[in-house]
Amino acid sequence: MPITLGPSTIASQFWCEMAVDLRRKYGEVSTPEKEMGSEIHKDRFLEVLEEIVVEIKTPGDRLHSNVHNMKVGLELYQKEGLTRELPILAKFDSALIMGIIDEIKEIEEIEIQGKERIKTKKTQIVEMKTRRSLNPPSSQQILRDKMQGMIYWYGLNMMINKQTEMGDFWQVYGVDLIENDFNELILSEEYMESLEIKKEKQKEYGTLLSIGNMINDTLKTISKLPELSKHIEIIYIHQKTLTEVHREKYKFDERFFTRGMKWALEYWSGKREPSSVGEFNNWKCNFCSYYTVCPTIHKKWKE
Ligand code: SF4
Repeated sequence: MPITLGPSTIASQFWCEMAVDLRRKYGEVSTPEKEMGSEIHKDRFLEVLEEIVVEIKTPGDRLHSNVHNMKVGLELYQKEGLTRELPILAKFDSALIMGIIDEIKEIEEIEIQGKERIKTKKTQIVEMKTRRSLNPPSSQQILRDKMQGMIYWYGLNMMINKQTEMGDFWQVYGVDLIENDFNELILSEEYMESLEIKKEKQKEYGTLLSIGNMINDTLKTISKLPELSKHIEIIYIHQKTLTEVHREKYKFDERFFTRGMKWALEYWSGKREPSSVGEFNNWKCNFCSYYTVCPTIHKKWKE
């Protein structure tokens, strides 16, 4: 069974892998800064799309809701040239990468073909980070965020190039293709009710077969998106004033990305223990929610 990882988890390994390991053990520590960040992201989503609250009961519900969000996001992108909170799913080696891109927008880029300069439509990935401080982010924060942007780029690029398959969806949501009959409902009554799917329409939406068709259509739509621009943008926004404090525009770097992913996955496949921040970066520990339970800090105390 392949492991499923989120781009922000992998990117966090580039900040401190020990903190990622401790989050696995002790759970996420919520902070006012994180909560405010989520609210700002939600507001930005609501600027372009409507939120429908659904009741999730089964793996089928979770799968349907994810593909439905992809479908709705893609429809908006085709109409408006912009969408937010677009889910992606892709494979890297044996891991499945599942995440949500903050924004994609349609841009025009000049391409040189022979002696001609041709305007070409491209899709650009935009990540938004919120900050409590008005100061620009540190180089270490930028490095982590750049990695995250590149993982989104890789994932969406895989989907545009038809390298994500229907089977990846069944696998990631643990929907059993052998146990379930293709014509039986795999969505819960509660979920279908929250989506206002009428009784007589349930077979049309809720069977393995109909969800398979929806995945297929969505993958086809994604494959028709304009090619990805190699340039990724990260916008840093101040949480209180919502003003932009920094903008980073950079190119997808295949070599950096592949080496980084292979290094990150070594930890997940158990090939090595989590690494801590080095002496040079131990200032990060002063801002860490896992300080009191961190073995690296305990070791220092003993010394
Ligand atoms: S205290 Fe330092 S080494 Fe430990 S998890 Fe936090 S940042 Fe990493």
